[in-house]
Amino acid sequence: ALFMAAIALLVAFGAPTPSPLEPNPVRAATYFEASLIIMLLALSLILLVTRRLELDLGRLAAFDELTGCYTRRAFLSECSNELARIGREGGQESGRCAVVMFDADNFKSVNDGYGHHVGDAVLAEIARRVAACLGPQDRLGRQGGEEFCALLANTGQERAQMRAEELRRAVAERPIQLGDQEIAVTISLGVAICPDHATEMAGLLKAADGALYRAKHGGRNRVEVAPLPAAT
Ligand code: GH3
Ligand code: MG
Ligand code: MG
Repeated sequence: ALFMAAIALLVAFGAPTPSPLEPNPVRAATYFEASLIIMLLALSLILLVTRRLELDLGRLAAFDELTGCYTRRAFLSECSNELARIGREGGQESGRCAVVMFDADNFKSVNDGYGHHVGDAVLAEIARRVAACLGPQDRLGRQGGEEFCALLANTGQERAQMRAEELRRAVAERPIQLGDQEIAVTISLGVAICPDHATEMAGLLKAADGALYRAKHGGRNRVEVAPLPAAT
């Protein structure tokens, strides 16, 4: 624009207007500038679209489409950051966290009885109810199928069971309303604490999974905390 304004000023103050057929440096510079602008515009458009795709891909990789929870991969990455923080703070209550693995009970019968589309809606509602009980520093991931995992930040052994009970109640306390259908659903939960049970994610997930297995075998719709390593 400045370049064009300068040309207009020059012409306004009496600079000779060159004939359109005659080659001259001002016209050459104008054409050069115009083609440069077109190239830059095209380049910016390409960069814009690429960036948009990058953001979309990032979102797809990080969030589960059905439930809005973190995908397994993103959840593990979020947890590693939290575990690294705990490693630095070590020992205090703020330097602890609980891993709560949970699984919908007898979910196959929901699919068999109402159809997969209803099963999908029920899963999304389970995730919504659990997420509503979590704080801003907590994380919720979908491990796969009807199995989820929550990371409860700043939560030691004493509070973990209580908080997991809250999650269980949030799902069990009232049936899920879908249109004119009411579907009663429950979850079973297994809890492990960092650093009591393990300090890295693989160990915590293993301990929480063992506790979840016991919750299932203990009758479902219940919370089990993994036994401390010394007691196993
Ligand atoms: P348990 O209490 O032992 O966990 O019993 P269950 O029936 O929940 O467990 P099972 O492993 O036998 O069945 C899990 C079912 O969850 C089967 C599978 O089709 C269903 N499921 C997994 N992911 C999805 C999903 O994204 N949508 C729907 N609708 N169903 C799903
Ligand atoms: Mg299940
Ligand atoms: Mg399962």
